[in-house]
Amino acid sequence: MTTKMPVLFIGHGSPMNIIMDNSYTRSLVELGKRLPRPKAILVVSAHWLTTGTSVTCMERPRTIHDFYGFPDELYAMRYPSPGAPAEARLVTENVKGVKVTCNSDWGLDHASWAVLRHLYPHADVPVFEMSLAYTFNEWHPKPLRYHYDLAAELADLRERGVLIIGSGNIVHNLAQIDFENIDADVFDWAKEFDDQVRSNLLSGNHEDLINYHYMGDTASLAVPTLDHYLPMIYAIALQEKNEPLTFFHEGFQYGSISMRCFKIG
Ligand code: ZN
Repeated sequence: MTTKMPVLFIGHGSPMNIIMDNSYTRSLVELGKRLPRPKAILVVSAHWLTTGTSVTCMERPRTIHDFYGFPDELYAMRYPSPGAPAEARLVTENVKGVKVTCNSDWGLDHASWAVLRHLYPHADVPVFEMSLAYTFNEWHPKPLRYHYDLAAELADLRERGVLIIGSGNIVHNLAQIDFENIDADVFDWAKEFDDQVRSNLLSGNHEDLINYHYMGDTASLAVPTLDHYLPMIYAIALQEKNEPLTFFHEGFQYGSISMRCFKIG
């Protein structure tokens, strides 16, 4: 019997967290020790936007350093986990609602390895990624319902020992960010939106999370583009009736990035 794996949503924030020791990174380290050991990990990445949905099918995913102007130390780092081609191909075969294609040239962008480095520092669990489907380009995401329905079709992976992680940020506004100060005061609109998402997560109100723009003006500031919000939609779509949802980290960095993280199951 395989243990049914939980589902995670992780706010990844700045790449600086890769080398920092703070309450957020410590919460990932602690969680990694408590989780049942997965057979493989699927990361739905805020940093891989494609026309249609893809999964990485290679045996050895490369480490992608998709960030600019950070310390050299970060660019020298590798996360040499194996890929999970068998599980990835299974996704392309089993998902019926949309076409999922196999990709052989992406790898692990920092939405994956920035968090996995703390969760599984030995890089010894196979990892594959799923992209976020856009219609034409990064300005035209597919409707939220597309992502929610697709994610629900991934449920059987949990029974197969696959840990599914949505990696993004609930509030992610780089235009308002205070780059100099990780502990900057949190903007009122950021806190308000994050609180509202928190209560909808706790009450299992997925409809309001899908139709987040009805939350008002704060929503357009908190979610200026959908890329970092969508991975959370994948996580909640996998929540079964009455399945518990717990926050293993809450808080903000740089004033406008919510680092809220949760576990389902
Ligand atoms: Zn990011």
